Amino acid sequence: LIKGERTMEKLKSYVSGQWLAGSGEGRLVRHAVTGAPLYAVTSEGLEMAPMLAYARQGGKALAAMSFHQRAMMLKNLASHLTAQKEDFYALSGATGATRKDSWIDIEGGFATLFTYSSLVRRELSDEPFLVEDAWTPLSRKGGFGARHVLTPKPGVAVHINAFNFPIWGMLEKLAPTLLAGMPAIIKPATDGARLAQAVLQSAVESGILPAGALQIICGGVNDLLDLLGPQDVVTFTGSAHTGQTLRAHPNFNRHSIPFTMEADSVNSAILAEGAGDEAIALFVREIAREMTVKAGQKCTAIRRAFVPRCQLEQVKSALLARLGKVVVGDPAREGVTMGPLASLRQLEDVKARVEQLSAQAEILCGGHLTPFEVQADEPEKGAFYPPTVLLCHQPKESPAVHNTEAFGPVCTLLPYDSEDELAELVARGEGSLVASVVFDAGQDVTALVGSLAPWHGRLHLLDPISAEESTGHGSPLPHLVHGGPGRAGGGQELGGLRAVKHYMQRTAVQSSPGAMSQLTHSWNPGAPVQQDRVHPFRKYFEELVIGERLLTARRTVTEADVVNFACLSGDHFYAHMDKVAAAESLFGERVAHGYFVVSAAAGLFVDAAPGPVIANYGMEGLRFIEPVKIGDTIQVELTCKQKTRKPKRNPEDLPQGVVVWDIKVKNQRDQVVASYDILTLIEARD
Ligand code: NDP
Repeated sequence: LIKGERTMEKLKSYVSGQWLAGSGEGRLVRHAVTGAPLYAVTSEGLEMAPMLAYARQGGKALAAMSFHQRAMMLKNLASHLTAQKEDFYALSGATGATRKDSWIDIEGGFATLFTYSSLVRRELSDEPFLVEDAWTPLSRKGGFGARHVLTPKPGVAVHINAFNFPIWGMLEKLAPTLLAGMPAIIKPATDGARLAQAVLQSAVESGILPAGALQIICGGVNDLLDLLGPQDVVTFTGSAHTGQTLRAHPNFNRHSIPFTMEADSVNSAILAEGAGDEAIALFVREIAREMTVKAGQKCTAIRRAFVPRCQLEQVKSALLARLGKVVVGDPAREGVTMGPLASLRQLEDVKARVEQLSAQAEILCGGHLTPFEVQADEPEKGAFYPPTVLLCHQPKESPAVHNTEAFGPVCTLLPYDSEDELAELVARGEGSLVASVVFDAGQDVTALVGSLAPWHGRLHLLDPISAEESTGHGSPLPHLVHGGPGRAGGGQELGGLRAVKHYMQRTAVQSSPGAMSQLTHSWNPGAPVQQDRVHPFRKYFEELVIGERLLTARRTVTEADVVNFACLSGDHFYAHMDKVAAAESLFGERVAHGYFVVSAAAGLFVDAAPGPVIANYGMEGLRFIEPVKIGDTIQVELTCKQKTRKPKRNPEDLPQGVVVWDIKVKNQRDQVVASYDILTLIEARD
């Protein structure tokens, strides 16, 4: 296909259900190792308005699905893409990535989809929207209250992504978007766009997603940002300069369009004062790893390494020795441990940044002026750059080391003299994604964490104990917040369900308890109840009705109950067993064990014979509200609160669902003495 640069293959965009190439020559993307031209990227002439209309159509289909349906869709997508992973590995070689680098991008991306899918199935009920917080009563008689409801925004999420992780960077944003019920338009960075496009093409062709859920623009966004409205969302990862320009877009201001930004971050690693040899070895290992993985082109990579001045020489020689073993070259070659940068453009950028840094710091190794060995056929054609360590003797007088992000295998060592000085120096980075603090096991770093945390989105505390299983400085994880204040963009991504909620509108809904029950498909206090002659534990999943209540028989608690329970459980706590001490206690007399009350409640509400109830698998929100004294009479209200069908893993599995029951144990004065939810597995008819 490649005949010459003028007739270069153009990367197509997926626009309104069609694969279309833009007009004009576009921007040429070259192979990071060989410099050979690969493809051109242009979106010139592609119309954005129909793209938005198509996305909104996809949004309707997504919003109509429940969380569990969206989560299963995501899981199927992850399985489908995983089956094709070798195709993506083959393409990623052109970006200069080693197999290990690509693993983070490709399999790390798919793992994010899997993780998000199970997170949502585990934590959210099977509804199209999300209900937050418990019922908040707002009236004296209990007839009026509120809950927060989150609904999918009926707009489009536009994701403008960086070049360094074309797949992971796309999927970590896409997973929460689709789970929230929003469609996405992806704008990958031009370098590496082929990878994002290949994954997206595979996703679209799989037919797993509804039409319009996913589109991609290879090239510029044309007038897309001008056409966005109040229900749309934009995320951006890349340089601070571009991010700040985009954030000031008048249309974002006009419509209050949420704009999440993740940009340049001058991340730190800190060796704590007094740390010993083992901690120093960990510190050096972490820095070297962050410099060489993906040739240092990671938003989380360590750019500043702070070392107590008295330990500088030891750290310096250990780091240089370790980096001396790095083999730079074509990742396809055996023994190569670090590939080139993603593009010649990026190479020029890193050279310029190191130039800026070297005005205030001494180059200890690497740098573009030092010749270095490259394992490649024609090294001069690739974007190769050596691991480069600088040393800044006077970090207080050197602003460049705190505000320059050389997006490559570059790190600066910074000596410090006291913890107060350290905190001040770290803060000069003006906000970062992550910092690692490395210390000896047992050392107390509380004060350091207190001063560093406000400047970071994540802190990685590394000592010889955590090192055994640590996921490392540089790995954003689906459950944890990724993003940081200030220079890092001020945005937050991932962080478990927080990211899903970002694509939904939170609305406070005020109503009667009954209307809220109907709306949220879950019973809340004060909502109507109904009683049936048939015990609820004799009913199959489908037959149970939300709000169905069992009012049990009563039981008077006797001294024998308390003594027997104490002997059975071995719990002879004075409040139950010592008449004198109990009289002096806050209860004024002996009281029944809370666990006895819970056990006796079960004795009152269960139906003992075999039936559709498979198991009781837990209890939530248990509170003992009033003491139960000897002679008190208790009674239980058991109310069907919520039902969630469990998807079958295998066709031969028993059909079943989870039922949450609200339990109120009351005394003879109608006071609630214990309140909790129990969770049961109930067999379904089909
Ligand atoms: P850019 O900010 O230039 O690009 C980031 C994304 O924004 C790309 O998809 C780019 O598309 C797009 N973009 C650029 N201009 C516009 C615009 N006017 N409207 C809409 N989209 C636009 O960053 P680079 O990718 O070129 O990287 C440059 C530097 O950014 C790196 O050297 C590094 O310092 C930093 N960076 C930081 C990252 C982080 O997470 N902290 C990640 C990646 C980079 P296109 O590629 O087509 O121009």
